[in-house]
Amino acid sequence: MPAPQTALFPPAAERLRCDDLLTRALEQARERIRQGSVVPTPDRSAFAQELTEFDFQRPRPLDEVLKWTTASLECGLVHVTHPRYFGLFNPAPTFPAACADRIAATFNPQLATATTSPAAVAIEAHVIRAVAQRAGLPSDAIGHFTSGGSEANYTALICALTRANERFARDGARAFAGPPVFYVSRESHLAWLKIAHQAGVGRAAVRLVATDGCGRMAVEALRAALLDDRANGCVPVMVAATAGTTNAGMIDPLLPCFEIARANDLWFHVDAAWGGAVIASDHRRAVLEGIGLADSITIDAHKWFATTMGCGMFITRHAPILTAAFHVTAGFMPSNNPGLDPYVTSAQWSRRFLGLRLFLSLAVAGWAGYGDHVDRSIALAEMLKQELEARGWKIANDSPLAVLCVTPPSGDPRALVAEIVASGRAWVAATRFEDRDVIRVCISNGETTAEDVAILITALEHAAARSASKPVPERSV
Ligand SMILES: *Cc1c(COP(=O)(O)O)cnc(C)c1O
Repeated sequence: MPAPQTALFPPAAERLRCDDLLTRALEQARERIRQGSVVPTPDRSAFAQELTEFDFQRPRPLDEVLKWTTASLECGLVHVTHPRYFGLFNPAPTFPAACADRIAATFNPQLATATTSPAAVAIEAHVIRAVAQRAGLPSDAIGHFTSGGSEANYTALICALTRANERFARDGARAFAGPPVFYVSRESHLAWLKIAHQAGVGRAAVRLVATDGCGRMAVEALRAALLDDRANGCVPVMVAATAGTTNAGMIDPLLPCFEIARANDLWFHVDAAWGGAVIASDHRRAVLEGIGLADSITIDAHKWFATTMGCGMFITRHAPILTAAFHVTAGFMPSNNPGLDPYVTSAQWSRRFLGLRLFLSLAVAGWAGYGDHVDRSIALAEMLKQELEARGWKIANDSPLAVLCVTPPSGDPRALVAEIVASGRAWVAATRFEDRDVIRVCISNGETTAEDVAILITALEHAAARSASKPVPERSV
């Protein structure tokens, strides 16, 4: 058994040996996952037992532990990288993004300051500028990579509060004459509740505006809520429109929401966490008309841009407000430049080199490659929609993006989802859309084929037929 130091920092030959083993093992696992069940059936008690055997008293060889870990994950996860995972927005990551993770792990740059990591900070800033420009924000827009959409949306609220009252920085919510409130639709991502809690304005600050019956914020309801809140002494600070609701891919009316925000002197944020990638598609980007007017936007790179997990973006046209919200000085930091140093313009301090994932992916695919990726997902969703409608299924949503909320001709959607998931042939989600139980099917994997969609249709039809206690039709698609 090697000394602990060698275990943590092995010599070059040993690193290469383990790296090679790992690379091969992972590629083989990837191939098996594609061929196998989306939902493996792990032996949970064996796994629990094996885990307790790691008492951290008796060191083990790295190659053995790597083998155990990859095997455990292979049979212990819902495989979001599977081409028939039609689930929540967790696509199989791009290969360049995976390469970026290795590079970041090797150099381990600290992205708090540009002084220590000038090349890495510049690469991130370059990608942020490119995304901002593609989204139609002005050339002086700035931003940063975040852990995800939640941190980006949190940043938006902090900016809105900071802009609304210059004393917020010092006094917090007490600076306001009445309770600060902000507006999102009831179909928005409810991380907003946690965000309001963290920001210190309280969960009651979230105004869940009614939708129009099709999952979009109802503009009249927004106007009415604003009037009502002002009459009651509340202080509105932000309208956050969702561009691609998590549930159903619906896009709030961005231009009317912008007009209302401007008329009321409110921060206008667009949460395009997953829908934002549609800016890559020349054919489809018009569905986000108005996003370029936003004071700030959220786009997750780890959703439709398919980087590895934990990679969002926050972009704003108001650089000074971002600095006002996050500035700080600390004697030990080598520099304090709001134009350059991420730790004075963002919620994080120590920061991983996340942006390299999108940089490498964009560098090799270009906007055109990502545009094809987006168009392909949407084309498959349209195909699925037509096939299901032809079989008597109803489509509850009307999204221009790659997600369908469907209801079967007969049977309980939740029971159908349970059956399909248990079969391991595909993974779909049960959710509620506009007060109805629906089956949510989302296409985000860049390697999903028409054949995979056909297998999903067969699985849906089988489950529906079974729940209707009819004989299972053997239908090929
Ligand atoms: C996923 C999502 C979020 C939350 O983002 P995380 O990356 O999961 O933190 C916020 N808003 C929308 C619309 C989303 O789809």
